[in-house]
Amino acid sequence: MEVHFTEEVERLRLGAGAEFHGEGILAITKALLQSGVAYVGGYQGAPVSHLLDVMVQAEPYLRELGVHVEACSNEASAAAMLGASLHYPVRGAVTWKSIVGTNVAADALSNLSSPGVLGGALIVSGEDYGEGASVIQERTHAYACKSTMLLLDPRPELDAMVRMVEHGFAMSEASNMPAILQLRVRACHVRGSFVAKDNVAPKISALHPLAEPAPFQYAKLAHPPVIFGHEKLKVEQRIPAAQAYIAAHRLNETMPGARADAGIIVQGGLYNSLVRALQNLGLADAFGNSQIPLLVLNVTYPIVPQEVGAFCAGKRGVLVLEEGTPEYIEKDILVALHRLDIQTPLHGKALMAAHGEYNVEVLARGLLRFCDEVLPGAASAAGHEWLSANDRRRAAVAARLGAPLPVRPPTFCVGCPERPVFSALKLAQQNVGRVHVAADIGCHAFATFEPFSSGHSILGYGMSLASRAGVSPLMRRRALSVMGDGGFWHNGLLTGVQSALFNGDDAVLLIMKNGYTSATGAQDILSTPDDAAKAEAVDKQQSLVHKNQTIEDTLKGMGVGWMRTVDNYDVTAMRRTLEEAFTTDFAALKVIIAEGECQLERQRRMKPWIASLLKRGERVVRVRYGVDEDVCTGDHACIRLSGCPTLTLKDNPDPLKLDPVATVIDGCVGCGLCGSNAHAASLCPSFYRAEVIRNPRWHERLLDGLRGAVRRALQGA
Ligand code: SF4
Ligand code: SF4
Repeated sequence: MEVHFTEEVERLRLGAGAEFHGEGILAITKALLQSGVAYVGGYQGAPVSHLLDVMVQAEPYLRELGVHVEACSNEASAAAMLGASLHYPVRGAVTWKSIVGTNVAADALSNLSSPGVLGGALIVSGEDYGEGASVIQERTHAYACKSTMLLLDPRPELDAMVRMVEHGFAMSEASNMPAILQLRVRACHVRGSFVAKDNVAPKISALHPLAEPAPFQYAKLAHPPVIFGHEKLKVEQRIPAAQAYIAAHRLNETMPGARADAGIIVQGGLYNSLVRALQNLGLADAFGNSQIPLLVLNVTYPIVPQEVGAFCAGKRGVLVLEEGTPEYIEKDILVALHRLDIQTPLHGKALMAAHGEYNVEVLARGLLRFCDEVLPGAASAAGHEWLSANDRRRAAVAARLGAPLPVRPPTFCVGCPERPVFSALKLAQQNVGRVHVAADIGCHAFATFEPFSSGHSILGYGMSLASRAGVSPLMRRRALSVMGDGGFWHNGLLTGVQSALFNGDDAVLLIMKNGYTSATGAQDILSTPDDAAKAEAVDKQQSLVHKNQTIEDTLKGMGVGWMRTVDNYDVTAMRRTLEEAFTTDFAALKVIIAEGECQLERQRRMKPWIASLLKRGERVVRVRYGVDEDVCTGDHACIRLSGCPTLTLKDNPDPLKLDPVATVIDGCVGCGLCGSNAHAASLCPSFYRAEVIRNPRWHERLLDGLRGAVRRALQGA
């Protein structure tokens, strides 16, 4: 990847007593090293990509410590990596985005949790839930319950998060349960500081390898008959051991308040938002001291019944703040109170929103309902007025617009190589008819938005080809599966390609070969051009992805008999290839490799290179496209075919024409799609290609002077 984390890597080296400043996710990364982790792996995904990206770039330093780092091919391989902690007293950490990553990892997690771990095993899970989330709204909590894993949900404050990493490993060892450390988007990006400790080199590592493997132990396998014993161990030993650890180390925090007859039990990750909501309602001071006592659950599974009982006993009512559904924690607490015969009324989802993120306003509205039930009059008049003002403001905006604000969907980057492919698909469908499009996870999923609106289903990362297996036989026309190279290596090769070849499916697979897992931050994959290829590239303005043929070689080796490689930006060639794939007599798997390097990575590589040329006073050419406003007819067919954010509208300069004309604004990176689309779709000839030359040569200056003189003469005439 072209992004460098030099500063972050330096911060990982901080020793005892030094002050660490930075984001939550980097604090967690440092905490892993302070905890003596021996191996780290994972599959990138927001909001935890940073952990693995930094670890991969810190590899030389990690080697000094003896810590092994592995960029896994998917979450299943990351979870399986934790198998090292089954037999050996080594601490391991892996990371991924949940819930989707946990779904992929589920098989290995079950097989790990059943025998239980000897060394501490920690899964740093990015809980992509709530506003701005990009995955299905489900909760990791279910996995912790069903597989008997610890679930940590630390208060988003760097000290607390670091402490929970250290305890997460220790508790995992004390209970033999793997631990999940759940981090919301806000927790990953919260900024703060903590006093660092020295990093701890693991006792067993590549620097200090074991002389012999562990003795054979059937009980370490997740096989019958030992699985029955594992279940017994989970209930009778592991959960009680975890509960004893949580209580002994006071991992859950009790915070007193003046209104002792009420209480709030909150997931640790929601603490900051809760305090802000309490402040807005006049129920907490500027330092976050709440009038209502709080029990902050930094461990949400398992619950410690005695701890919950002691907090609730004698109160007139307790509110449980638990984001999302189902209400696992609320039900656990209800059962605990029932078994302890504590009659305190428990309020939860009945007063709170049943779904969606608990942001400050949602929490405040729920707190008001709780106060009405348990603490009438406790909330301040200012708090009521704040919420009423929000309602009035929204109503006023809606009244002025006459409709809700239109949503602004995300889209491809300017110049993205995947946009032209969907322009071509639009044109191809005009000729062959509409086709079923099995979409996938990745940047190409932006094509599900306007102006392409392409994609009937997304069934998982790398699953598009597999997901059309049941659809193809139902269709007169061939279905199209779109997959990125990231998805291809993550799951698509085996789940889709192998199955389609084995079953002799008549299918069309389009692989976006942009060279990286771009949607997760442009991490390298097996088919990324290597540094040598990048260094060798004479003209750095060209796409580099053709320099790595691993995907093509793999497909050939598996027996794919119809494969075409097309330059993405050649819309006509792409349209023709798609049409051929949809209509050819070849009735087995057809693969189109759409070749075009991720524009974001390309720009990251080019910018320093161009800056260095300019610094040396060398000639630099920047291609720009433009629209001749006198020629533009104002029908906007180009915009409907492109969707590029820099191809937009402006007022028509002709006072006799009402329709706005198309225009290209300054962000254009000169990808060429505008020109290619104009040719492929026979659009009006309003597009022009311009070259902006910096540090021109003497003959270019001379030519420009001559042209200017002629222009001025003609204008004068
Ligand atoms: S990150 Fe790369 S592949 Fe993704 S939308 Fe941007 S340019 Fe396209
Ligand atoms: S050439 Fe057209 S599609 Fe490409 S970046 Fe410029 S305006 Fe966008």
